[in-house]
Amino acid sequence: MEKRVDIIGGGLAGSEAALQLAADGFRVRLIEMRPFRSTGAHETGRYGELVCSNSLKSTKPASAAGMLKAELEALGSRLLAFAYESRVPAGGALAVDRDQFSGLITDAIVRAGIERIEAEVVSIEPDGTLMLIDEAHADPFPLEDPAPLCIVASGPLTSPALAESLQALTGQDHLAFYDAAAPIVFADSLDLDVVFTQSRYEDGVGDYLNAPFNKEEYGAFIDELVDAQCVIKKSFETKELFQACQPIEEIARKGFDAPRFGPLKPVGLTDPRTDRRPWAVVQLRAEGVDKQCFNLVGFQTNLTFPEQERVFRMIPGLENAQFERFGVMHRNTFINAPALLDAHLQLHSSAADALPVQLFIAGQLGGTEGYVEAIASGLLASMNVRATAEGVELDPLPRETALGALIDYATDPSTQDYQPMHVNFGILPPFEQRIRNKQERYERYAQRGSEALDGYLAKLAEQGLAPLPFDGERSSRPSCEEARA
Ligand SMILES: Cc1cc2nc3c(=O)[nH]c(=O)nc-3n(C[C@H](O)[C@H](O)[C@H](O)COP(=O)(O)OP(=O)(O)OC[C@H]3O[C@@H](n4cnc5c(N)ncnc54)[C@H](O)[C@@H]3O)c2cc1C
Repeated sequence: MEKRVDIIGGGLAGSEAALQLAADGFRVRLIEMRPFRSTGAHETGRYGELVCSNSLKSTKPASAAGMLKAELEALGSRLLAFAYESRVPAGGALAVDRDQFSGLITDAIVRAGIERIEAEVVSIEPDGTLMLIDEAHADPFPLEDPAPLCIVASGPLTSPALAESLQALTGQDHLAFYDAAAPIVFADSLDLDVVFTQSRYEDGVGDYLNAPFNKEEYGAFIDELVDAQCVIKKSFETKELFQACQPIEEIARKGFDAPRFGPLKPVGLTDPRTDRRPWAVVQLRAEGVDKQCFNLVGFQTNLTFPEQERVFRMIPGLENAQFERFGVMHRNTFINAPALLDAHLQLHSSAADALPVQLFIAGQLGGTEGYVEAIASGLLASMNVRATAEGVELDPLPRETALGALIDYATDPSTQDYQPMHVNFGILPPFEQRIRNKQERYERYAQRGSEALDGYLAKLAEQGLAPLPFDGERSSRPSCEEARA
């Protein structure tokens, strides 16, 4: 197949993919709508602009974020190298000078000879043509000569016209416009003397964990919930955000008892400690078959992260809860990845499969969450595009790696009610024998992932698809020997 690719979106995922593929000899066209058309959150026309915080999280090898970085180094990430080059002091985290970071990315894209098109993609036509609007054309015009491979990396703030076109390709119910995720807590941080296992109206052991309130505990909780500090929404986020989903604090503001007759209803549940129905109950549902993490059912929230920690720890049994992720509600366009993406990030639906172009989805649009995750999925999409052009079938990344676990989680067809996910130890396969000491467990995760990646890299080399060497600060990834020592 011809080594030509069109990439929609020059954010984190699109820029990583573009640089990788250009280095491999692809003719790359990168279509980015800024500065002609703004997203409302970006401020410049530079590629790879960070929209909010300047932190790319921890570099500690025995942390999930650090593990992902080590993998990106081994896979030759361009953007991670630029992040190290523009690093500013931030303790154990990798924080960057945002202008320098996006400046380095933009310079590299120019130097790589990537064809840059400043235009909004407004639709992907059934014959694979990308229709564009730019400064000079108010009416859509076709991008000539579509490439056989296309990466869509238009991010959480994909323009409305393109979102509509993607909806036509994926099906009405398969594109979400905001992220309304409830917090997730680690199972081993819950007090199992208080929290009990039961399903509503069912005898015996059920599927849910239940955190029971008595009347006083409920009153104190609601008082704090309604007064807690919320995240202030930006104007581009407020539209339609709460239409389909009410945050728990809003429900509580409607009336003191409203949560007790809504998400916290206790009907059909009996607390085995009292043999009575509790005054109210928070139900927790397992996030995966291994039941390492549970989400708080119906707890979509706009509370700031510190307030979530403070107020939700007032729930009986959650006094020492460790949060695997906090609840969020913000504008975020993403596809239903478990139903639509394969492990190679290729889009499948009857309409997409009928296109003469193979579409790959990268970045937050594909259902991952976070800067480094977006870079990682852009890199993975480039690996798959490269393999497709070479006619080679790539194995999925091992589940023991942080990126492999993330993609496996995001593309597992059995996942229901999918919300975008960032890397964390809760999605890695557990060890057969439980390791109680947390630090030791995390180190073992990192070591196991590193070994699995070494095996994967050896196979890539055999297939003639070895990644680029990492061009940044010395790897923080331990070698197998170092990890074992
Ligand atoms: C407001 C906000 C704040 C966030 N803050 C953080 C944070 O602090 N930390 C963190 O880890 N993650 C954060 N995220 C989540 C996520 O990590 C970032 O959004 C990240 O930039 C996603 O990378 P991406 O490549 O998928 O998308 P982006 O980096 O957004 O890149 C997508 C690009 O596509 C372009 N584009 C969109 N539509 C079109 C079109 N039709 N035609 C052509 N170009 C188009 C956009 O202009 C943009 O440049 C935030 C998300 C949002 C929305």
